[in-house]
Amino acid sequence: MISSNASQPSEFTPTVTTEKTPIAQALQNHLIFSAFKTSATATPRDWYATTAYTVRDHVVERWVKTSEAYQERDPKRVYYLSLEFLIGRMLSNAALNLGIAPEVSEGLHALGRDMEQVVEMETDAALGNGGLGRLAACFLDSMASMDIPGTGYGIRYEYGMFRQSISHGQQIENPDNWLRYGNIWEFQRPESTYIVRFFGHVVEFPTEQGIEYHWVDSEAVVAMAYDVPIPGYGTETVNNLRLWSAKATREFDLMHFNDGNYEKAVEERNATENISKVLYPNDTSVSGKELRLKQQYFFVSASIQDILRRFLANHHDWNMLPEKVAIQLNDTHPAIAVAEMMYQLVDVHRLEWSHAWKLVVKIFAYTNHTLMPEALETWSVDLFGRLLPRHLGIIYKINHEFLQMVNHRFPGDTDLLSRVSIIDETHGRRVRMAHLAVVGSHTVNGVAALHSELLKTTLFADFNRIYPGKFINITNGITPRRWLNQCNPGLTALLAKVIGEGFHKDLSKLQGIVPLAEDADFRQAFREIKLQNKIRLAARITKLTGISLNPNSLFDVQIKRIHEYKRQLLNMLHVITLYNRIRSGKAESITPRTVIFGGKAAPGYWMAKLIIRLINDVAAIVNDDPAVGDKLKVVFYPNYEVSAAELLFPGSDLSEQISTAGTEASGTGNMKMALNGALTIGTLDGANVEIKEEVGDENIFIFGLTTPEVAELKARGYNPWDYYHSNEELRQVLDMIAGGFFSVDEPDRYQPIFDTLLHKGDNYLLLADYQSYIDAQDAVGRLYEDQEEWTRRAILNVARVGKFSSDRTIGEYANNIWKVHPIRG
Ligand SMILES: *Cc1c(COP(=O)(O)O)cnc(C)c1O
Repeated sequence: MISSNASQPSEFTPTVTTEKTPIAQALQNHLIFSAFKTSATATPRDWYATTAYTVRDHVVERWVKTSEAYQERDPKRVYYLSLEFLIGRMLSNAALNLGIAPEVSEGLHALGRDMEQVVEMETDAALGNGGLGRLAACFLDSMASMDIPGTGYGIRYEYGMFRQSISHGQQIENPDNWLRYGNIWEFQRPESTYIVRFFGHVVEFPTEQGIEYHWVDSEAVVAMAYDVPIPGYGTETVNNLRLWSAKATREFDLMHFNDGNYEKAVEERNATENISKVLYPNDTSVSGKELRLKQQYFFVSASIQDILRRFLANHHDWNMLPEKVAIQLNDTHPAIAVAEMMYQLVDVHRLEWSHAWKLVVKIFAYTNHTLMPEALETWSVDLFGRLLPRHLGIIYKINHEFLQMVNHRFPGDTDLLSRVSIIDETHGRRVRMAHLAVVGSHTVNGVAALHSELLKTTLFADFNRIYPGKFINITNGITPRRWLNQCNPGLTALLAKVIGEGFHKDLSKLQGIVPLAEDADFRQAFREIKLQNKIRLAARITKLTGISLNPNSLFDVQIKRIHEYKRQLLNMLHVITLYNRIRSGKAESITPRTVIFGGKAAPGYWMAKLIIRLINDVAAIVNDDPAVGDKLKVVFYPNYEVSAAELLFPGSDLSEQISTAGTEASGTGNMKMALNGALTIGTLDGANVEIKEEVGDENIFIFGLTTPEVAELKARGYNPWDYYHSNEELRQVLDMIAGGFFSVDEPDRYQPIFDTLLHKGDNYLLLADYQSYIDAQDAVGRLYEDQEEWTRRAILNVARVGKFSSDRTIGEYANNIWKVHPIRG
């Protein structure tokens, strides 16, 4: 840490010490010397920057110590490779984890500023789509908090997830220019650059030891590192998230420049730098674009080179590599790392093939995130071979040896060989990235118990026969620092008052509040906090949408990516059912509800965008109908992102987790909801199954078909018309949607929704689950009338979801997959 030894510090002496100077003084210094402003001239953004610099000094001080400790003690490290990190804001999280949040608040207060307003000036780091990217961010927090030597590797997208606005009921995508005002939390590392190559071709050189492969005439791109500190909670550890940015090579520029073609040089430079320009906004579906494969290889190659450089700085015995390096593949997006590691070991470092392969399968592990066919990545052999000719050859050789082994174990089963081959020959020759990841990893995990079982019996059934024991479960988790402490300070303070602070690092300690569910005073305090959080949320919603809400109504919330399998439409069928009941004079029997939706649709996902439009069209009619009064309000919360989530979860009463059984791998929104005292209405899908086990059957609303029942119904022959004809409320709702009740200006706007549900087979079984869902919702409404009982159950939910801390999850990864241990500086 830089320390000041100034003789007589004046008001303007830049004293950057963090221990000796109170934070108020540090803020004042940064205002002057970092922002070049005074209290009189500082804008809100200046105050944000000033505060961020002040907190950052404390982070950096520990960061230096952590990296020194890692360097000296040379522990085994885990490298988490992910194309997405959905981090959100950094300032309040850093202040919280460092334990200086109260002092920062006080310091700002002394200068006439409010921490809550300052925090609001920070743009989210939205380098991810949804659950998968947010999981990576929660894992980074847990690794640092548990002193696990872990590094994240990803891409520094210039444009992250698009910002969503709603215009005339429809989603508009706006570019997320998040770096416009700079990023105080990143450190450019021009000294950490690697060349990443594309295109060209492979030349074979016969040598004494066999054939050498030379990858020639390739195009080079430079990957430059940007480091982001990840401070642990209640520890000195600060880990590193290293994000790669694409830069044109200098030589490349000069080539045309020397020809006198300056513009051409600039053009090519831009084309190169496009690689890290923008995040693909698709969640659980693949686009198959060349640029996407380039992004994957770009960040993987730079990361593997960086990992090997770090290893070689301390070691020359390659057998030590698996003792020092564990690499986790977050989905198949970085699966090309298996081939890249072989390329680096065999072609660059000249290891023998079989030696290199033995090392590779001790290093890699792969997390599967979905069973849905549209999410399984494959690349055409043509595209792959053009972009990465040598890597295609390496994959062929890996596949050849793998198939030989399978043939040896299961002689003559040619169907099996074609099913498990890394190259799919049945769909025009494609590289199956999931198969590459499975073959190249020692362990493959699913993300919830049900999902992991389904992996073994469906998607990877063949592989489970070939590699018994390779497939395990590690149920997802969320970091309680951001998703309880930071987003719900009221509840956090109440919990700390009754059970102490221990739950921040051991969430199972929340069990301690179980007896208090029976304590009327505690329930009163708990309910009051929920109400305050709802008031805070309602105020924001009014500001964003103009809709005013009754904070005493039941806040019924579904926030997640818009996808047919998540069934926002099923929720809408319920909303419209309630509306019809109110219109037909049954309003008295209805508990006042505010139904809140939030989530982005992939820009090319037409049906998801139509669903957003339906929500908004229904909202416009329901919210305006005098017959409805405050019995029902419908809200679409625009631009759902991490910072919005931090407001929405604490303000929710009811958590909608209603995916078709067997489709949601885990879900993590379900965990955030329960931890913040919402009751779940959900199917037996993903982690809902385990949430039910933890909180108890009587404290959760379960409905709908189970996974085996879904399979059975589909096998028997599912006919949605049966439900349409036999259920009057359902038929009325569907007819209103199809008949233009909610789109008077364009009556057939929602005909495609009717068609999907009736004429095209209702893939996600909304109609089959409708009545069961309605019955569960009726039970929810009745229970909410009994505020004491509702609160009792909400308290028990908070008390019993300790299992879903990402600390527990990371502990399991560390022990069962990575074999890494905590290191304290
Ligand atoms: C937790 C979270 C998700 C994942 O939500 P699911 O309900 O599990 O799909 C997505 N986006 C954000 C911003 C989140 O915080």
